[in-house]
Amino acid sequence: MLYLDNSATTPLLPEVKEAMLPYLLEEFGNPSSKYYSFAVNAKEAVENARNNVALLLGSKPEELTFTSGSTETNNMVLKGVADYYQSKGKHIITSKTEHPSVLDTCEYLERKGFEITYLDVDGYGRVSCEDLEEALREDTILVSIMWGNNELGSLNPIKTISEFCFDKGVLFHTDATQVIGKVDLNLENYPGISFLSCSAHKFHGPKGTGVAYIRRDEYGISTPITPLIHGGGQEQGIRSGTLAVHNIVGMGKAAELAYRSLQENIGKLNRLEETLRDILLEKFKTVISFNNDQEDKIPGILSVQFKGLNNEILVKKLSPVMAVSTGSACSSSKPSHVLAAIGLTIDEVRNTIRFSLSHVIDTDQLLIFYSL
Ligand code: PMP
Repeated sequence: MLYLDNSATTPLLPEVKEAMLPYLLEEFGNPSSKYYSFAVNAKEAVENARNNVALLLGSKPEELTFTSGSTETNNMVLKGVADYYQSKGKHIITSKTEHPSVLDTCEYLERKGFEITYLDVDGYGRVSCEDLEEALREDTILVSIMWGNNELGSLNPIKTISEFCFDKGVLFHTDATQVIGKVDLNLENYPGISFLSCSAHKFHGPKGTGVAYIRRDEYGISTPITPLIHGGGQEQGIRSGTLAVHNIVGMGKAAELAYRSLQENIGKLNRLEETLRDILLEKFKTVISFNNDQEDKIPGILSVQFKGLNNEILVKKLSPVMAVSTGSACSSSKPSHVLAAIGLTIDEVRNTIRFSLSHVIDTDQLLIFYSL
């Protein structure tokens, strides 16, 4: 079985599993307890993981809050900013191709009286800085634009957007879920990013764990927001709840491995993508076309139209030998809002399959396409 749905989730690396196991078994302490070794060891493991994720993101460890993943982080940032800054303004800017955890949260905020501008995207799914400039208002309290798209792989001009938001003094959140471990980013070079979402299971860590990056200023003061989850005051009061130590340790290990092999993994993903593209063109030349740009994208994501073929039927037919998807796993019951936003007709959307690769795939495994 060839697994080509790595944008939905990735397999846990064996080293990650090994790192996690002790914290499911003998090291079961609660990191918020005190003095005895179970608690101290658990706390140490959490802080070690935080350091490793910080290294991968180029942040300070204290700027990271562990969450249950990017859905929670996106909710936390959007609702937390909306609540905290509502006396300053009630306008938020986002884009039409965001993940449902941003778009549905925005709809919820609209029902609460906030005004949301949904920026259009170009034919490959990128927002334009001119549109952002035009949409910005006196009462804009947040801009939320994803770093890279989960269906098309397209990268937004995050450097320019973050510089623009920095100059205008507007908070900027970016959902970086799909780019971590696949794009060389260092938050030190992006002073305009106030918040970032990231999820462990997209880079070979466990499901159910992620971080919220919340920028601190030169005095070490965190950008204030209202917490989403209240309770025992864990994570400096910004996200209460007993920490999932085993998962956090797994995320830390996955981050350490991703950081160590970043350039190597990016190179491998690029080569795999090129091979897959060549094979698809050779095998299905007359019936396929690519929805995504070849430039300026997350390596390893291909969105392909198979003309005249229904994608649900195709995915089902391929399922004994290959795992692929019609688009996002998070909204699989609805036709893709991302593909609609780039101007595809409903038929073109229904012809589309997403292939998403991982550096753990062997190039030879792709030869299976020749036997289809
Ligand atoms: N944002 C994007 C761009 C995603 O691809 C996903 C996962 N498909 C999420 C957010 C949600 O992440 P999680 O699974 O960690 O809740």
